[in-house]
Amino acid sequence: MEYSVTPVGIIRSPYQEKFGIPRQPALAPSAPVTLELLPPYNQPDCVRGLEDFSHVWLTFVFHDTLARGWQPLVRPPRLGGNSKVGVFASRATHRPNGLGLSLVALQGIDTRHGVTLQLSGADLLDGTPVLDIKPYIPFVEAKPDARGGFVDGPPPQLTVRWSESARTQLQAWTQAPTWLPQLIEEVLAQDPRPAYQDDPQRRYGMRLAGCNIVFGIADNVVTVLEITAPTQ
Ligand code: SAM
Repeated sequence: MEYSVTPVGIIRSPYQEKFGIPRQPALAPSAPVTLELLPPYNQPDCVRGLEDFSHVWLTFVFHDTLARGWQPLVRPPRLGGNSKVGVFASRATHRPNGLGLSLVALQGIDTRHGVTLQLSGADLLDGTPVLDIKPYIPFVEAKPDARGGFVDGPPPQLTVRWSESARTQLQAWTQAPTWLPQLIEEVLAQDPRPAYQDDPQRRYGMRLAGCNIVFGIADNVVTVLEITAPTQ
């Protein structure tokens, strides 16, 4: 059996590469993300009534890693990268059919030119194809007593500090989006390093919202070392 699917929309997000994207939605709520619906779904009728829901489920394709296939066992970062669980016991990106599922906050719907959903906190790469959108129904889907397996509770957060030079660079960038400093802190607090890396001397680079951010991590403190604004 084979089924073919086509995207109903494309994600536009500040996340220009996989490195740094939070591992689940809502962990970096300051990320402004939009979902632009594609023809023939970009008509107001397709979203009529959706504005009354605060959250939506997005089914999407892990398009950036699709070609790498899947394995029956994966090493979730939450287990330190050492222990393995079955692919279906994980949210790993490398999975059969490469489908992802994210619950995101719906901030608004713009129907002036086509249809664009304004979302926040999505854990999605810029350009991610979305296959379906469904409203979140709290009375059926909220399960406060549910067991969370090896991800029972939010991940530990790092403390974020700014070097003087990074602060100066940010201040000099007069066109910087107002939400950017907060987003940088939310993203870095999640500890974007691969689970097996713990080198206090290492400098990491991340592309976010058009800028390059250099940071280092030591003793559970992440320091923003440099910010390079996009060239105009
Ligand atoms: N909430 C979704 C789920 O449970 O299916 C995604 C969880 S997955 C662990 C989140 C990671 O997917 C992000 O940290 C990012 O590295 C990766 N990711 C996001 N968008 C992607 C895309 N379009 N293609 C490949 N990887 C992507």
